[in-house]
Amino acid sequence: MADPRGFLTVRERQLPQRRPVPVRIKDWREVYEEQERGELQRQAGRCMDCGIPFCHQGCPLGNLIPEWNDLARKGEWDDGIERLHATNNFPEFTGRLCPAPCESACVLGISQDPVTIKQVELRTIEEAFEAGTVVPEVPERLTGKTVAVIGSGPAGLAAAQQLTRAGHTVAVYERADKPGGLMRYGIPEFKMEKSVLDRRLEQMTAEGTRFRCGTEVGKDITGEQLRQRYDAVLLATGATVPRGLPVEGGDLDGVVQAMDYLPDANRVALGETVEDQILATDKDVVIIGGGDTGADCLGTAIRQGARSITSLEIMPQPGEQRSPAHPWPTYPMLFRVASAHEEGGDRVYATSTKQVLADEQGKVRALRLVEVERTEAGGFEEIEGTEREIPAQLVLLAMGFLGPEGEGIVEQLELETDDRTNIARDGSYLTNVPGVFVAGDAGRGQSLIVWAIAEGRSAARAIDAYLTGDSTLPAPVRPT
Ligand code: FAD
Repeated sequence: MADPRGFLTVRERQLPQRRPVPVRIKDWREVYEEQERGELQRQAGRCMDCGIPFCHQGCPLGNLIPEWNDLARKGEWDDGIERLHATNNFPEFTGRLCPAPCESACVLGISQDPVTIKQVELRTIEEAFEAGTVVPEVPERLTGKTVAVIGSGPAGLAAAQQLTRAGHTVAVYERADKPGGLMRYGIPEFKMEKSVLDRRLEQMTAEGTRFRCGTEVGKDITGEQLRQRYDAVLLATGATVPRGLPVEGGDLDGVVQAMDYLPDANRVALGETVEDQILATDKDVVIIGGGDTGADCLGTAIRQGARSITSLEIMPQPGEQRSPAHPWPTYPMLFRVASAHEEGGDRVYATSTKQVLADEQGKVRALRLVEVERTEAGGFEEIEGTEREIPAQLVLLAMGFLGPEGEGIVEQLELETDDRTNIARDGSYLTNVPGVFVAGDAGRGQSLIVWAIAEGRSAARAIDAYLTGDSTLPAPVRPT
């Protein structure tokens, strides 16, 4: 039972400190310092167990938030992690990376700032790792059924762990050299150190999940071969097709997709050598797009020693032109303030790119911009007389992703796509091909880690039921 008056004694929401900017931009380590345990517990005590925990609904995983908030308050970490793992395979990922829709839904937010749910989640799992209680959960018996999971991002990993623990023999195929999906090669170390990913992968390997990295399905092995070899196949291949810059000069040398820039930086941050790395060092950098990807480019370019960085956002400045139904900063989610934004760079709002200009060698030298305003119809129109040029030797495109790749396995298996070009599925995550399922960004479109985990868990239940006729695994979300 939570302390129903806790929020009256601890009124102020306290988050852990971020390391000082001048210190943290000299390295790639995570930005946040650990919060003092007593303070974290006091913060957990602000959860009043309000009776109708909207936070459950806010969280796609249906996390049992008031339960583990109270266990953290009392320091009962072993029970806390048991309740947390009941709904989330990877709280160490969401505790670091989730934009925490649960906190937006927290009832305390009506009169005070919401409970620091994400921090309590993170601390609960970190206490468990420290105490050595995150151990492999090896299934008691094997079903004899086999599953191929294609893609090792959060959706693929969550499904693989659920299915392995249910006794199926699971192989995860990944075209990259190491598993993790965007959590390894997209998201930088300063948001989540890769050792966090690796210790979870160790647990999964010990449980029996097999990883086949460096294997591109559709090229190194066909979709049909996988179908013949396995009883079920799950596509968790992500939404990897990036949006381009459809203006004159949008394909010049020096205009680079974020996901061509970030992976190399991540490798180098971990001590690897990368030939012909795209670097921001000593360059005027322009980042187009203001979501997570743009923020990650910003933090990376700062750490590489860019001369100047300008982040362009077509959306108006926070607070401007927003209706009460869509208040800043909770809407839209793609336009958030990240730790990187306090590290440097300029943010330019309500601005669109008209042209990318080249130097004599054909390389990008500048961008021609124009200010825009919202139209009644919800679009944007240019404001006359506001055109200007800014210097740029590196332009990073972070304007979102259009969906999964159409060629390769999608083509081979003749998978149908929906009207948003995502892989189509029914209410059980099943595609038009028998025994082939899809979860995560590949089916949902560009989204969030918490949704990928939730879909991975739900698809695992659907696959388990397909293989055995029934399932006791949880299904937190239905496909949309
Ligand atoms: P992915 O993580 O994309 O994984 C798909 C995997 O499939 C990849 O490893 C890919 O190599 C593999 N694959 C694809 N095709 C094949 C094939 N044919 N054969 C074998 N393997 C294949 N979300 C948050 O909640 N918080 C954040 O802070 C955040 N930051 C982000 C930063 C960046 C730069 C980006 C791009 C996204 C970010 N997101 C964030 C979104 C989040 O990372 C994704 O929603 C999530 O990773 C999707 O998970 P997934 O498992 O569906 O796919």
